[in-house]
Amino acid sequence: MRILAVAAELFPYLKVGGLADVMAALPKALRRLGADARVMLPAFPEIRAALPGARPVWSHPDLLRRGPATVLLGETGDGVPLYALECPELFGEDGGPYGDWPRAHLRYGALGWAAAALARDGDGDGWTADILHAHDWPAGLAPAYLALAGGPRPRTLMTIHNIAYQGAFPPAVLGELWLPPEAYAVDGAEFNGSLSFLKAGLHYADRLGTVSPTYAEEIQHPAVGRGLEGLLAWRRGQLAGILNGVDTDLWDPATDPHLILPFDASTLSRRGLGKAALQMELGLQEDPIAPLFGVVSRLEEIKGLDLLLPNLEALLGQGAQFALLGSGDPVLEEAFRAAAKAHPGRVAARIGYDEGLAHRMFAGLDVLVVPSRSEPCGLTQMYALRYGCLPLVRETGGLADTVVDAADPLRGNGWLFGPEDPWELGLALARACQFYREDPAAWTALQRRAMAADHGWDNSARRYLDLFRSLVGDGGG
Ligand code: ADP
Repeated sequence: MRILAVAAELFPYLKVGGLADVMAALPKALRRLGADARVMLPAFPEIRAALPGARPVWSHPDLLRRGPATVLLGETGDGVPLYALECPELFGEDGGPYGDWPRAHLRYGALGWAAAALARDGDGDGWTADILHAHDWPAGLAPAYLALAGGPRPRTLMTIHNIAYQGAFPPAVLGELWLPPEAYAVDGAEFNGSLSFLKAGLHYADRLGTVSPTYAEEIQHPAVGRGLEGLLAWRRGQLAGILNGVDTDLWDPATDPHLILPFDASTLSRRGLGKAALQMELGLQEDPIAPLFGVVSRLEEIKGLDLLLPNLEALLGQGAQFALLGSGDPVLEEAFRAAAKAHPGRVAARIGYDEGLAHRMFAGLDVLVVPSRSEPCGLTQMYALRYGCLPLVRETGGLADTVVDAADPLRGNGWLFGPEDPWELGLALARACQFYREDPAAWTALQRRAMAADHGWDNSARRYLDLFRSLVGDGGG
């Protein structure tokens, strides 16, 4: 099974969110199962820098009339073949994968076009793909180019990591993208008067996927579907929700190089020392009795952290401490900074991106709070579970699929709240505080249960492989 995964992010070279982690871990897991999974991205400077020995395997003299384009083939640090599309006019400068908006359609049109051509016609070594797996809107045109060209072609899967980002552009760019006029139609790439890359992928791909069973259901309804619910409900028979996994090479508390004192479920006392070290690192009082709540997140409206702010005082009033690592919305950044200033030693706010500190937070926090308004899968709650940090989450998307409330004596591993309401979140925080205070033995039992659960990639990679086999076997149907 030859699979080409196409996206705009790849850990550890270029990461904006969880998609980067998935792009690194899923192909690796598929390769462990015997598939020939490869990855393709634009040759952003960060990607180019990771491929010193790469060689050209595909070229186009004037891709989308933006000049010569070349695809280089190299390898990730994990040994996954990595194709990087070079086109100096489009990818030569920094600006991150989602910057450079006026030309974003050209960047990702070029990526889709080159990925489709390479997957179908082969690279310089004659490698073709059985499956083109498009991830999020930047890859959305690849299935469209393949379907519109007709003839024998790889089968296609369009996976939605976040339906909020759709890649909508004025219809006038259709010609620049080498799409035929008939592609701009309700039965095509048109969406609300724009040309939508995600809609194109969802219309033209053979199968559709997203990253948790609950999100697969939610996106078929107006509250979460962002206007695409009708199309998704109509194609529900071809829509699969497969949970992301944790890359256990990187996320294992027993071997994690970011931790001073690695631990496992049988050495949880060491975890207590990790909490003390974290309190010290963050300038919090070294207090083993205070339950330490925290957040590791992009600071965006969708993450629901504004629901948490009005609860901070009450949380501290219950003897807790709070720590945040995140960046994004300046208003939220300032609000958490102000909270830290108002409560020195009890609240810490680290504004920025820090991979190592993120690991130490999952290893040292007692409770990770994830109050997302919507969460396609969510990785942080799974990292938390693996590190014996109990998640307190809103019951949505992948959070609902991975966290069970402690009220369930047999399966509980955290706390859930439903309505998007600070009051409801406050009740859940109070329940967690009370549990921590009143029953340390039961807390330890929850931690052990959380750590014992298998959130690795193997199960999910097997599900992807089954889906790919059925696609190739039935010709796409
Ligand atoms: P999303 O993709 O919406 O951002 P996920 O939970 O799926 O949410 O993935 C977020 C990823 O980014 C996780 O790997 C998390 O540890 C990481 N992360 C988020 N913010 C930070 C930060 N400030 N520093 C370090 N890692 C972060």
